[in-house]
Amino acid sequence: MANSLYENLKHSDPDVYDSVLRETDREHETLELIASENFVSYAVLEAAGGVMTNKYAEGYPGRRYYGGCEWVDVAEDIARDRVKKLFDAEYANVQPHSGSQANMAAYFTFLKPGDVIMGLDLSHGGHLTHGSPVNFSGRLFDVVSYQVEKETGRVDFDKLLKRAKEEKPKLIICGGSAYPRNIEFEKYRQVADAAGAFLLADIAHPAGLVATGIHPSPWPHCHVVTSTTHKTLRGPRGGLILMGEDWENSWGMVAPKSGRVKMVSELIDSNVMPGIQGGPLMHIIAAKAVAFGEALQPEFSDYCAQIVKNAKAMAETFLRLDFRLVSGGTDTHVILIDLTDKNITGKVAEKSLEAAGITVNKNMVPYDERSPMVTSGIRVGTPAMTTRGMGVDEMQQIAQMIGRLISAPDDSTVQSKIRQEVKELTSRFPLYPDLRT
Ligand SMILES: *Cc1c(COP(=O)(O)O)cnc(C)c1O
Repeated sequence: MANSLYENLKHSDPDVYDSVLRETDREHETLELIASENFVSYAVLEAAGGVMTNKYAEGYPGRRYYGGCEWVDVAEDIARDRVKKLFDAEYANVQPHSGSQANMAAYFTFLKPGDVIMGLDLSHGGHLTHGSPVNFSGRLFDVVSYQVEKETGRVDFDKLLKRAKEEKPKLIICGGSAYPRNIEFEKYRQVADAAGAFLLADIAHPAGLVATGIHPSPWPHCHVVTSTTHKTLRGPRGGLILMGEDWENSWGMVAPKSGRVKMVSELIDSNVMPGIQGGPLMHIIAAKAVAFGEALQPEFSDYCAQIVKNAKAMAETFLRLDFRLVSGGTDTHVILIDLTDKNITGKVAEKSLEAAGITVNKNMVPYDERSPMVTSGIRVGTPAMTTRGMGVDEMQQIAQMIGRLISAPDDSTVQSKIRQEVKELTSRFPLYPDLRT
């Protein structure tokens, strides 16, 4: 497939062709441990690279602002049907261009500028869009951040309840980007009810684990759920919004300024488009449909179970090597290593691992005294390497390599030795062999 596609690129634009080819080689030759990344199937790549990129389709299936939408309607309907089945949802919007856009549209549905929101602090594992001052969420809303406990790395729900009662947020956001444990939806809902707040679950990270029942379900606890499609869900880069079974009944309808009372689902749809986006990325929506179809297969459940098994094996190895892990381990695909006692920053660790062909990201740990550009931690995740077929043995081996590099970050002999081991390991688990030269 892709060879013929690249054939045109190769001749018409050798420079971009070269960058694409080198990226493909990089993905094959390195150990990808960034917890938010994954490798999509050839089928997802084909749909994402297809002609639906040409089509304007503002609106929703059956009610578009443009003609000629019959076939993109089919793709979007398939995407919506499949994702509803996958997550046991009653309502789905698959148009958000990204996880951030999904959050923005959801916030605009439930909030007005200046309303109080409560989200997990970015430096405690939250996300930019959960109220960071440099993000739209922090600029438009009045943010009250909550934190995890120093000892446990987990949220203290008694404290959260007390805080929520004082601050009276309109929306509480649960979920995050560097939180290694399952999200306790039920406990958050008790807090939300006591404070009179809506509860939004951002499952961008564990979405695949949620879809396969490995992570607890957000229903019936969360009023609205947002996600990305490209992390554990292993689809194209994008976002989505879901509501569960009792969504219209249990918390009724939201009345707009004038006119007829609208259903919440209608409000979400109109906050995505025309609220914050124009034309949807129909090629990406087609690719989302393909990925949701893949995620409905039994093999995807096996895949997600293996992700967690791999993360636990890796975490155990790190603990044996005397690393400190935030919360002491993991329930998911994420491990957050606290390097505070290791005399190395997250920044230096990231660089030294990268030089050996191991890709991770530096990450703040809770109560970090270093800046976000330096940090005292690294975040490690298993979804991408599990996609390549690696198992517990490989995870243990990789954790050992990380241990050796971190104890000798400036030793170029160690780096080149490990670079060799990485090469050997990656060549046993080929990635996109048809797309490489
Ligand atoms: C990744 C992530 C997002 C945003 O996704 P983008 O597609 O990068 O905008 C939102 N929330 C959480 C918790 C995330 O981890």
